[in-house]
Amino acid sequence: MTNSAPLPLTPKKSDLVEDLLTNTPLILELAHALGSPLNVVLPQQIRDNVDEFQRTIAAHGMRGAVYYAHKANRSAALVRELAATQARIDVASLAELQRALGSGFAPARIMTTGPKTPEFLWLAVRSGVTVNVDTVDELAMVGDIAQAHALPKLEILVRLSSFSNSGATMLSRPSRFGVATDELDSVFAVLDKYPEHLTLLGFAYHLDTIGIPEKARAFDGCLLALEEARVRGHDPRVVDIGGGFGVDYLADGAEWEAFTTALAEAVLGRRAPVTWQGAGYGLRNEGGRLRGNLGLYPAHRPVSGPRYLDDLLNTAAPNLGSTLAAAVLDNMHELWIEPGRSLLDQCGVVIARVLEVRPATDDTHFIRLDLNAGDVSLEQHGVHLDPVLIPSRACERGAGSGYMIGNLCLEADFISRRKIWFEQLPVAGDLLAFVNTAGYFMDFSADHALDQPIARVLALSRNAAGWSWQLDEQYWPDPFHGPSTRRTESN
Ligand SMILES: *Cc1c(COP(=O)(O)O)cnc(C)c1O
Repeated sequence: MTNSAPLPLTPKKSDLVEDLLTNTPLILELAHALGSPLNVVLPQQIRDNVDEFQRTIAAHGMRGAVYYAHKANRSAALVRELAATQARIDVASLAELQRALGSGFAPARIMTTGPKTPEFLWLAVRSGVTVNVDTVDELAMVGDIAQAHALPKLEILVRLSSFSNSGATMLSRPSRFGVATDELDSVFAVLDKYPEHLTLLGFAYHLDTIGIPEKARAFDGCLLALEEARVRGHDPRVVDIGGGFGVDYLADGAEWEAFTTALAEAVLGRRAPVTWQGAGYGLRNEGGRLRGNLGLYPAHRPVSGPRYLDDLLNTAAPNLGSTLAAAVLDNMHELWIEPGRSLLDQCGVVIARVLEVRPATDDTHFIRLDLNAGDVSLEQHGVHLDPVLIPSRACERGAGSGYMIGNLCLEADFISRRKIWFEQLPVAGDLLAFVNTAGYFMDFSADHALDQPIARVLALSRNAAGWSWQLDEQYWPDPFHGPSTRRTESN
């Protein structure tokens, strides 16, 4: 059994990120001053990502809106930057709604999604944002609040689930979110009870899957519900297809193939382990046969983000005899999307200090970092990418491999159970940069376990004069000295 061939998973990097990471003195100084872990966000990148989604919608001749799913990252700088673009925002908690309102998003550009607390609903209804309701009871509560306070008419979307309208083909997976399509009668009953206070704007779905057929069914289910609503005398115009457009994390698909093949062979005992204690990420060996499902995000996804949206729009609608795009256009609907992960593509880097490199088993190492699995939750989310070494000083560094472990006294605190091959094995004091971590991996699960510090967040920008930085909470888009590519704002 040979253990020698490296299995790299080289991350895809934008030019901006590439340029930042070669600026070693700046990063060393920031990490020295502000500690480890350190989160970096890149507001100028998220502008470009919004533009790309908008171009895709416009290329289909549609009217539409891009809602940033705020839950994927806590940064205030990114929200404020987006406030100065055409983007809108999707908020899923009271605090996210407060941040959106306090960052310059007018209520007409805010939508609330997900299951809500009474306080969250109250502020949503009070401030007149669009409410994407998750249950029939929630819809009734919205009507009650609006009526009790004599508030202006509120725009409502209804999130649907359990699309059972597609004949003999596969049903959608059960979801704990949304209203089942066979409960539509109850939705209309509540809407009819509050005609002065609720306006049905349309229907929504959000599916956390990468499968186009499943999404096409849900999309088509929403279009059918829109028809039904028109028959019943409503005048809805929006189909909201949620997020889940995905990100391509890897520079080279062949590396992904090589790694997943090696993982399967290692699980079968045909080669030396490629993971700590032979972790199979869902694969197992049953009497010499490979069983289970690989529970990893498909990190190589050439068709992701706006291109995935394009593919979905070009898909045949299961029940409508046309493409989904043609059905939207024919009915003069608006297309709303709620991307989180894909709007944050290339928008952030997590930086961590190497505390110790020591021998583990065989010829490999433990690389202990000054952050934990809550600070960069790639492993938890099943996304595998090699970190980028930022050397702290000139010294001899040989090639080598290692498992990355965190700063909690927990056996489970692994930053990566996958063995990482380094052309230059880090030494204590070096930094490792985890690129493309803004969507979900940066601060989604960060907490104060062991009273370890939560990362400070910096907003970095590059202009003709070079890089500049601000603490996240200090960052506001500068209306006077911004890049010349700035567009007119929508509100
Ligand atoms: C999480 C979420 C999103 C964003 O999903 P991504 O996979 O990050 O694009 C959009 N809409 C809703 C309702 C969500 O819960």
